Formats: sequence, structure tokens, C-alpha cells
Amino acid sequence: MTTLAILILTLWTPETGTCTPLVHADVEDAPPGTTTGIPVLMYHHVSDPVNGYYGISTGRFRSDLAALDAAGFYLITPEDLENGLMCVPGGRRPVMLTFDDGWEDNLSFTGSDLDPDCVLAILTDYCDEHPEFGDGATFFISWDKVPFGVSEQVGEKLNMILDLNCVVGNHTRRHASFLRLPREDWAASVLGAMDRFQRSLGLRTTQVSTLAYPGGGFPREPGAEELVASFTYDGAQAVRMGFLANGSISSFGTLLESPEGWYRIGRLDMSQYSVPEVLGWRNLMARSQARDDLHDPLPWRMPPVDGERL
Ligand SMILES: [Zn+2]
Repeated sequence: MTTLAILILTLWTPETGTCTPLVHADVEDAPPGTTTGIPVLMYHHVSDPVNGYYGISTGRFRSDLAALDAAGFYLITPEDLENGLMCVPGGRRPVMLTFDDGWEDNLSFTGSDLDPDCVLAILTDYCDEHPEFGDGATFFISWDKVPFGVSEQVGEKLNMILDLNCVVGNHTRRHASFLRLPREDWAASVLGAMDRFQRSLGLRTTQVSTLAYPGGGFPREPGAEELVASFTYDGAQAVRMGFLANGSISSFGTLLESPEGWYRIGRLDMSQYSVPEVLGWRNLMARSQARDDLHDPLPWRMPPVDGERL
């Protein structure tokens, strides 16, 4: 990858209005012959009409779900990553869906019911009808505004996400980029958001343990990952993994080898990429083969299938 491309990827933030370059990142340190890349897809607004440069339509979101399902993917959560992907059935391969900022079109009500065109309803309806696709997604919430738009519904909505086997993630207190925020302010940015979660989630706040970096960037400086990993809230580690928005698919093999890797998980902005482009990634994990023993080592659970065509 050229220095210029690295610079563009590093400096890109969704809020600046610049666009993700449509280049496929180089294979990330995957040992020869292995393909362990897990796509983590990032969405913002999902609405009709499309809301802004980083928005997509509900029709596009529904077609993404169907295309990922048809390509043999299986929805996983950050916890499934920590558990070594034990949940992924034979013949399937993992994908993670993430939604940033907590926009109202992600979770809204029509009267007392879920709005059938909000992200959570579209997702749960699809997963109910297609159990082979698994279920679950991560909603990264920033507290610079009211999560999901309606202040008196915040608690109900955050708890509903957890009740529906989805994940609430931290997107910081004020949505300030870690590329510009002084290090001494990082703790307040992360833990200030935890205070807000605590008001709505109470004891369930310990389930908020992942962080999406606002703007998608995280500085490549010595000790940056260790500092974020050191934050605790109510005696528990506040951030167990961190998600970038860098236009790349991280290799799970690389994550396992490096403690810092858990704080640099790549994501693709799906307002800029299509599912067919995701399927063209070179380090993408192939569909796993049927296996007899869930407790086999990872390479035996998720062997690449040579020459597989999608
Ligand atoms: Zn954001």
C-alpha cells in the first residue's frame, strides 16, 4: 500500500465529508495459505429517502442482508470473537454488523411497536425468517446527542437491544476523534459515556465493553492501545476491543497473535462498499467445512476451502 493510501485511510473520518477510497487493502499479515479475514461492516443512517452521504436506503440494507446470507455468512457479535467463533455452524463464515452513532432510524417506534422499517426491526425480521444467518448486531452509541432521538425512550431502547441478542457498544461521550483528543482526555471520553449507559442499563452496563473510535481513526502511537485497555468501570475492563473505520478487513489470526490487535479491528463503511466488493477481499475467510468437534483448534474449525467460488 502506498504511503499516500495509508495517509488517506488514517486521516479519513466520516464527519469530514471526505470519502473512503475504494481500494482493497493489502492482505494483513495473514500467514501464507490462511484466510482468516472477518468482515466487520459499518452502517450509519438506514432510511428512505437516503439520509446524507453515509446513509443507505432500507431496500439496500435488506438486499445486503440477503446477499450476505446467500454468500454463506453468519452474524456474530464481539463476544463471539472472544469465544473463538464457537457459534459459527459448519458451512458458514462470520460477519459482524455494526451501526454507529445511535440514529433514530436505527431504532424507532410506531406507537408502542417497533417501526418495521427501522434497522433493528428489519434485522430481527430477517433473522427470524432465516435462522441459518444467525442473529445479532452491535449498536455503537455516542452521547453527544440523544441516542435514537427520543430522550424518554433511551432506556427502553438500550435494554431492548440487549434483550434481542444485540450488543450496545461505546462510541464515547462527545464523539471526539482520538486522533485529535489529548491522551489525558481519553478516559473521560470513554468513561463519561459509561456513566450515561449506567443511567439506562444499571447492572447491564458491564455488557458495554467495545469501543468504536469516533471518526474511525485511532493513533498509531506507542502505548495507545494499552491506555484504552487499562480503563475500568465498576471494577471491570471498560474496553475489551476497539473498532476502526479504515476500509479494511482484519485477519482474525493476526488478532489472536497480538494484544494490540483487539484494539485495531478494521471495518468497512457500507455506504462506500457493496457486498460484491466485500466478497472480493483477498484475505476473506472461506466458508467453514462441516466439523465433528467444536473443540478442535481454530485452524481445524475454519479451514480455507481452496478455489471456492462464490
Ligand atoms: Zn460516529
